[in-house]
Amino acid sequence: MFQVKDLVKTYRPKKAEPVFALRGVSIDFGETGMVFILGKSGSGKSTLLHLMGGLDVPTSGELVIDGKSSKDFSKEDFDDYRNTYAGFVFQEYNLLPEFTVYENLALALQLQGKRADREKIRESLKRVELELDEKRRPNELSGGQKQRVAIARALIKDPKIIFADEPTGALDEGTGSAILTLLKSFSREKLVIVVSHDREFAEKYGDRILELADGRIVSDSAML
Ligand code: ADP
Ligand code: MG
Repeated sequence: MFQVKDLVKTYRPKKAEPVFALRGVSIDFGETGMVFILGKSGSGKSTLLHLMGGLDVPTSGELVIDGKSSKDFSKEDFDDYRNTYAGFVFQEYNLLPEFTVYENLALALQLQGKRADREKIRESLKRVELELDEKRRPNELSGGQKQRVAIARALIKDPKIIFADEPTGALDEGTGSAILTLLKSFSREKLVIVVSHDREFAEKYGDRILELADGRIVSDSAML
């Protein structure tokens, strides 16, 4: 079970006015399903995703993960949450360019303190329907292929939650649809949270759509 309670994030840039990026966001998530968080640019989507994934800390408020409050988290608990519970997919893929596909996936396992297991790596590439020479590097792949590797890298950790920040933002519509179809298939057994500004995609693929405006949730609807 995953909840966020009254998350507030205020950025205080040096020599500039504070930015009230999140003004108190509370959401209860189920165990599985594809949840979209829709909102215009600047509405606070990435900030919310980063806080939910433990990549940044809120000004106030908390995450509740399997009944435990992030207020009681040690630094190790946060590392553990990020490394084993949460998987991340970003618009710009965030693959390591100097490493091969294989090495990018191996590294994800090693960051979890696991052995880089060839079988596991092959299997994760199969799960994202990617057949290519895993000795290739990210700059030798198409955008859609890079995003599939990024999803494989998230999946190989076997996370309970996948957080995706505009995963189709750099892709053409057809490739974007294929990526969302893939993420949707994993949402039968995991919680998949997708941040997007694309209402059409949200309505087509989402089981639930939350809308964010100016740092607040302004609507929450279940899709039929
Ligand atoms: P979105 O992802 O919906 O476009 P963001 O969460 O990136 O929105 O940003 C929300 C607001 O917070 C924006 O006004 C943005 O300029 C501001 N913001 C984001 N990150 C920072 C930062 N590190 N420092 C100051 N302001 C920031
Ligand atoms: Mg953003």
